[in-house]
Amino acid sequence: MQKLREVLEQTQKNETAVGHFNVSDLVLLKAVFAAARELKVPVIVGASEGEREFVGVRQLGALVRSLREEFDFPIFLNADHTHSLAKAVEAAKSGFDAVVFDVSVLPFAENVRQTREAVYTLKAINPEILVEGEIGDIGSGSEIHDEIPDLSKGLTTPAEAKEFVESTGIDILAPAVGNMHGVVKSMVQGKIKKRLDIERVTQIKSETRALLTLHGASATDDEDLREAIRAGINIVHINTELRVAWRRGMEEGLGRKAQEVVPYKILPVAVESVKQAALSRLRLFNAGRSLSQGR
Ligand SMILES: [Zn+2]
Repeated sequence: MQKLREVLEQTQKNETAVGHFNVSDLVLLKAVFAAARELKVPVIVGASEGEREFVGVRQLGALVRSLREEFDFPIFLNADHTHSLAKAVEAAKSGFDAVVFDVSVLPFAENVRQTREAVYTLKAINPEILVEGEIGDIGSGSEIHDEIPDLSKGLTTPAEAKEFVESTGIDILAPAVGNMHGVVKSMVQGKIKKRLDIERVTQIKSETRALLTLHGASATDDEDLREAIRAGINIVHINTELRVAWRRGMEEGLGRKAQEVVPYKILPVAVESVKQAALSRLRLFNAGRSLSQGR
Protein backbone atom coordinates (compact mmCIF):
# COMPACT_ATOMS: atom_id res chain seq x y z
CA MET A 1 0.00 0.00 0.00
CA GLN A 2 1.38 3.37 -1.03
CA LYS A 3 1.73 6.06 1.60
CA LEU A 4 0.06 9.42 1.10
CA ARG A 5 3.40 11.12 0.46
CA GLU A 6 4.20 8.63 -2.31
CA VAL A 7 0.76 9.09 -3.84
CA LEU A 8 1.25 12.86 -3.87
CA GLU A 9 4.74 12.65 -5.31
CA GLN A 10 3.33 10.48 -8.07
CA THR A 11 0.91 13.28 -8.98
CA GLN A 12 3.89 15.59 -9.58
CA LYS A 13 5.08 13.22 -12.30
CA ASN A 14 1.85 12.46 -14.10
CA GLU A 15 0.20 15.89 -13.75
CA THR A 16 -2.79 14.65 -11.86
CA ALA A 17 -4.21 15.72 -8.51
CA VAL A 18 -5.72 13.79 -5.65
CA GLY A 19 -9.35 14.69 -4.98
CA HIS A 20 -10.09 15.76 -1.40
CA PHE A 21 -13.73 15.57 -0.35
CA ASN A 22 -15.14 16.51 3.02
CA VAL A 23 -17.35 14.04 4.80
CA SER A 24 -19.67 14.57 7.74
CA ASP A 25 -21.76 11.43 7.61
CA LEU A 26 -21.75 7.90 6.27
CA VAL A 27 -23.61 8.91 3.08
CA LEU A 28 -20.75 11.18 2.02
CA LEU A 29 -18.05 8.70 3.02
CA LYS A 30 -19.72 5.81 1.16
CA ALA A 31 -20.26 7.97 -1.91
CA VAL A 32 -16.68 9.27 -2.10
CA PHE A 33 -15.23 5.82 -1.55
CA ALA A 34 -17.50 4.29 -4.20
CA ALA A 35 -16.48 6.95 -6.73
CA ALA A 36 -12.75 6.46 -6.09
CA ARG A 37 -13.07 2.68 -6.29
CA GLU A 38 -14.98 2.87 -9.55
CA LEU A 39 -12.18 4.91 -11.13
CA LYS A 40 -9.41 3.10 -9.22
CA VAL A 41 -7.83 6.39 -8.14
CA PRO A 42 -6.49 7.36 -4.72
CA VAL A 43 -8.63 9.72 -2.69
CA ILE A 44 -8.47 11.83 0.45
CA VAL A 45 -11.46 12.33 2.70
CA GLY A 46 -11.31 15.35 4.94
CA ALA A 47 -13.14 16.56 7.97
CA SER A 48 -13.05 20.04 9.44
CA GLU A 49 -13.25 20.60 13.18
CA GLY A 50 -17.05 20.83 12.98
CA GLU A 51 -17.34 17.72 10.81
CA ARG A 52 -15.04 15.82 13.16
CA GLU A 53 -17.06 16.86 16.17
CA PHE A 54 -20.23 15.53 14.55
CA VAL A 55 -18.87 12.15 13.38
CA GLY A 56 -16.35 11.67 16.19
CA VAL A 57 -12.62 12.05 15.63
CA ARG A 58 -11.63 8.52 16.62
CA GLN A 59 -14.71 7.06 14.94
CA LEU A 60 -13.81 8.70 11.63
CA GLY A 61 -10.24 7.47 11.95
CA ALA A 62 -11.55 3.93 12.50
CA LEU A 63 -14.01 4.11 9.58
CA VAL A 64 -11.43 5.23 7.04
CA ARG A 65 -8.82 2.79 8.30
CA SER A 66 -11.31 -0.08 8.03
CA LEU A 67 -12.07 0.81 4.39
CA ARG A 68 -8.37 1.07 3.55
CA GLU A 69 -7.61 -2.30 5.13
CA GLU A 70 -10.62 -4.31 4.01
CA PHE A 71 -10.42 -3.18 0.39
CA ASP A 72 -6.65 -2.65 0.25
CA PHE A 73 -7.43 0.74 -1.23
CA PRO A 74 -5.54 4.07 -1.05
CA ILE A 75 -8.09 6.15 0.86
CA PHE A 76 -6.53 8.70 3.22
CA LEU A 77 -7.86 10.91 6.00
CA ASN A 78 -7.11 14.59 6.50
CA ALA A 79 -7.94 16.86 9.43
CA ASP A 80 -9.10 19.86 7.46
CA HIS A 81 -8.73 23.43 8.79
CA THR A 82 -7.52 22.77 12.28
CA HIS A 83 -7.19 25.98 14.23
CA SER A 84 -5.50 24.79 17.42
CA LEU A 85 -2.61 22.52 18.29
CA ALA A 86 -4.81 20.55 20.71
CA LYS A 87 -7.25 19.59 17.92
CA ALA A 88 -4.35 18.77 15.59
CA VAL A 89 -2.83 16.46 18.19
CA GLU A 90 -6.19 14.77 18.73
CA ALA A 91 -6.42 14.03 14.98
CA ALA A 92 -2.84 12.76 14.80
CA LYS A 93 -3.49 10.40 17.69
CA SER A 94 -6.66 9.16 15.98
CA GLY A 95 -4.73 7.98 12.93
CA PHE A 96 -5.26 10.86 10.49
CA ASP A 97 -2.77 10.82 7.61
CA ALA A 98 -2.56 14.59 7.27
CA VAL A 99 -3.46 17.76 9.14
CA VAL A 100 -4.22 21.20 7.73
CA PHE A 101 -2.92 23.48 10.45
CA ASP A 102 -4.65 26.75 9.71
CA VAL A 103 -3.81 29.85 11.68
CA SER A 104 -3.75 31.98 8.54
CA VAL A 105 -5.84 34.70 10.22
CA LEU A 106 -2.80 35.53 12.37
CA PRO A 107 -0.02 37.91 11.28
CA PHE A 108 2.59 36.17 9.09
CA ALA A 109 5.31 35.86 11.76
CA GLU A 110 2.90 34.37 14.28
CA ASN A 111 1.49 32.01 11.65
CA VAL A 112 5.06 30.84 10.96
CA ARG A 113 5.84 30.36 14.65
CA GLN A 114 2.69 28.36 15.46
CA THR A 115 2.82 26.28 12.26
CA ARG A 116 6.47 25.37 12.89
CA GLU A 117 5.54 24.25 16.40
CA ALA A 118 2.65 22.18 15.02
CA VAL A 119 4.94 20.44 12.49
CA TYR A 120 7.36 19.54 15.29
CA THR A 121 4.67 18.29 17.66
CA LEU A 122 2.68 16.30 15.08
CA LYS A 123 5.74 14.57 13.58
CA ALA A 124 6.73 13.50 17.09
CA ILE A 125 3.40 11.66 17.33
CA ASN A 126 3.57 10.21 13.81
CA PRO A 127 6.71 10.82 11.72
CA GLU A 128 4.77 10.00 8.54
CA ILE A 129 1.96 12.47 9.07
CA LEU A 130 1.82 15.25 6.48
CA VAL A 131 1.31 18.79 7.74
CA GLU A 132 -0.21 21.46 5.55
CA GLY A 133 0.10 25.16 6.30
CA GLU A 134 -1.93 28.03 4.96
CA ILE A 135 -1.21 31.64 4.05
CA GLY A 136 -3.46 34.18 2.43
CA ASP A 137 -7.23 34.60 2.54
CA ILE A 138 -9.60 32.08 0.95
CA GLY A 139 -12.74 32.99 2.86
CA SER A 140 -14.60 30.98 5.45
CA GLY A 141 -17.36 28.35 5.25
CA SER A 142 -18.04 25.78 2.53
CA GLU A 143 -21.64 26.84 2.05
CA ILE A 144 -23.82 28.99 -0.18
CA HIS A 145 -22.95 32.67 0.36
CA ASP A 146 -25.03 35.66 -0.67
CA GLU A 147 -22.21 37.53 -2.35
CA ILE A 148 -18.62 36.99 -3.49
CA PRO A 149 -16.17 38.32 -0.89
CA ASP A 150 -13.25 40.46 -2.07
CA LEU A 151 -10.26 38.20 -1.47
CA SER A 152 -7.96 39.99 -3.91
CA LYS A 153 -5.84 41.55 -1.15
CA GLY A 154 -5.21 38.16 0.46
CA LEU A 155 -3.55 36.44 -2.53
CA THR A 156 -0.36 34.54 -1.68
CA THR A 157 2.85 35.97 -3.13
CA PRO A 158 5.60 33.59 -4.34
CA ALA A 159 8.14 35.25 -1.98
CA GLU A 160 6.07 34.78 1.16
CA ALA A 161 5.19 31.24 0.06
CA LYS A 162 8.91 30.41 -0.17
CA GLU A 163 9.67 31.97 3.21
CA PHE A 164 6.69 30.21 4.82
CA VAL A 165 7.57 26.76 3.49
CA GLU A 166 11.26 27.10 4.40
CA SER A 167 10.74 28.47 7.89
CA THR A 168 7.94 26.13 8.99
CA GLY A 169 9.02 22.76 7.56
CA ILE A 170 5.51 22.01 6.29
CA ASP A 171 4.99 19.24 3.74
CA ILE A 172 2.15 20.90 1.86
CA LEU A 173 1.24 24.53 1.24
CA ALA A 174 -2.29 25.87 0.70
CA PRO A 175 -1.97 29.14 -1.20
CA ALA A 176 -4.64 31.70 -2.07
CA VAL A 177 -4.67 31.91 -5.87
CA GLY A 178 -8.19 33.06 -6.66
CA ASN A 179 -9.85 30.15 -4.92
CA MET A 180 -12.45 30.62 -2.18
CA HIS A 181 -14.43 28.49 0.24
CA GLY A 182 -18.10 28.06 -0.54
CA VAL A 183 -20.04 29.26 -3.55
CA VAL A 184 -22.59 31.97 -4.30
CA LYS A 185 -26.10 31.24 -5.57
CA SER A 186 -25.32 31.99 -9.21
CA MET A 187 -22.54 29.37 -9.01
CA VAL A 188 -24.96 26.71 -7.79
CA GLN A 189 -27.04 27.45 -10.88
CA GLY A 190 -23.87 27.20 -12.97
CA LYS A 191 -24.14 30.76 -14.28
CA ILE A 192 -20.70 31.86 -13.16
CA LYS A 193 -17.50 29.99 -12.33
CA LYS A 194 -14.56 30.78 -10.08
CA ARG A 195 -11.36 31.63 -11.98
CA LEU A 196 -7.81 30.90 -10.84
CA ASP A 197 -4.55 32.84 -11.12
CA ILE A 198 -2.57 30.14 -12.94
CA GLU A 199 0.57 32.28 -13.30
CA ARG A 200 0.64 32.68 -9.52
CA VAL A 201 0.40 28.90 -9.07
CA THR A 202 3.33 28.42 -11.46
CA GLN A 203 5.45 30.99 -9.62
CA ILE A 204 4.62 29.60 -6.16
CA LYS A 205 5.50 26.10 -7.36
CA SER A 206 8.84 27.16 -8.80
CA GLU A 207 9.74 29.18 -5.69
CA THR A 208 8.76 26.52 -3.13
CA ARG A 209 8.90 23.15 -4.94
CA ALA A 210 6.35 22.16 -2.26
CA LEU A 211 3.28 20.01 -2.61
CA LEU A 212 0.35 22.37 -3.14
CA THR A 213 -3.32 22.15 -2.19
CA LEU A 214 -6.13 24.08 -3.81
CA HIS A 215 -8.87 24.72 -1.26
CA GLY A 216 -12.39 25.89 -2.06
CA ALA A 217 -12.46 24.52 -5.61
CA SER A 218 -16.21 23.94 -5.87
CA ALA A 219 -17.70 25.69 -8.90
CA THR A 220 -14.29 26.45 -10.39
CA ASP A 221 -13.94 26.60 -14.17
CA ASP A 222 -12.90 23.15 -15.46
CA GLU A 223 -10.13 24.41 -17.71
CA ASP A 224 -8.69 26.52 -14.88
CA LEU A 225 -8.57 23.39 -12.72
CA ARG A 226 -6.77 21.44 -15.46
CA GLU A 227 -4.23 24.23 -15.88
CA ALA A 228 -3.74 24.63 -12.13
CA ILE A 229 -2.99 20.92 -11.85
CA ARG A 230 -0.50 21.17 -14.72
CA ALA A 231 1.04 24.18 -12.94
CA GLY A 232 1.66 22.15 -9.79
CA ILE A 233 -1.49 21.73 -7.68
CA ASN A 234 -1.39 18.24 -6.10
CA ILE A 235 -4.59 18.14 -4.02
CA VAL A 236 -7.92 19.73 -4.89
CA HIS A 237 -10.56 20.29 -2.21
CA ILE A 238 -14.22 19.95 -3.15
CA ASN A 239 -16.79 20.33 -0.41
CA THR A 240 -19.77 22.53 -1.29
CA GLU A 241 -20.51 20.71 -4.57
CA LEU A 242 -20.92 17.47 -2.64
CA ARG A 243 -23.01 19.15 0.03
CA VAL A 244 -25.36 20.46 -2.68
CA ALA A 245 -25.56 16.96 -4.19
CA TRP A 246 -26.16 15.52 -0.71
CA ARG A 247 -29.10 17.83 -0.10
CA ARG A 248 -30.64 17.15 -3.51
CA GLY A 249 -30.25 13.40 -3.03
CA MET A 250 -31.73 13.53 0.47
CA GLU A 251 -34.74 15.50 -0.78
CA GLU A 252 -35.24 13.11 -3.66
CA GLY A 253 -34.87 10.05 -1.46
CA LEU A 254 -37.35 11.41 1.07
CA GLY A 255 -39.76 12.58 -1.60
CA ARG A 256 -40.09 9.30 -3.48
CA LYS A 257 -42.48 7.68 -0.97
CA ALA A 258 -44.12 9.75 1.73
CA GLN A 259 -44.60 6.69 3.96
CA GLU A 260 -41.04 5.39 3.71
CA VAL A 261 -39.17 5.45 7.01
CA VAL A 262 -36.44 2.85 6.36
CA PRO A 263 -33.13 4.75 6.24
CA TYR A 264 -31.35 2.21 4.07
CA LYS A 265 -34.06 2.56 1.45
CA ILE A 266 -34.00 6.37 1.48
CA LEU A 267 -30.29 7.13 1.84
CA PRO A 268 -28.92 5.23 -1.21
CA VAL A 269 -30.49 7.95 -3.38
CA ALA A 270 -28.31 10.50 -1.60
CA VAL A 271 -25.25 8.24 -1.87
CA GLU A 272 -25.76 7.99 -5.63
CA SER A 273 -26.23 11.74 -6.00
CA VAL A 274 -23.01 12.51 -4.10
CA LYS A 275 -21.14 9.73 -5.91
CA GLN A 276 -21.94 11.29 -9.29
CA ALA A 277 -20.65 14.67 -8.09
CA ALA A 278 -17.42 13.08 -6.83
CA LEU A 279 -16.98 11.00 -10.01
CA SER A 280 -17.11 14.02 -12.30
CA ARG A 281 -14.42 15.81 -10.29
CA LEU A 282 -12.19 12.74 -9.92
CA ARG A 283 -12.31 12.20 -13.69
CA LEU A 284 -11.15 15.76 -14.24
CA PHE A 285 -8.35 15.59 -11.64
CA ASN A 286 -7.06 12.29 -13.00
CA ALA A 287 -7.37 13.09 -16.69
CA GLY A 288 -3.58 13.10 -16.98
CA ARG A 289 -3.35 9.39 -16.24
CA SER A 290 -4.89 6.43 -17.97
CA LEU A 291 -7.71 5.51 -15.60
CA SER A 292 -7.66 1.90 -16.75
CA GLN A 293 -4.08 1.68 -15.49
CA GLY A 294 -5.50 1.70 -12.00
CA ARG A 295 -3.43 2.53 -9.02
ZN1 LIG B 1 -10.39 24.58 2.87
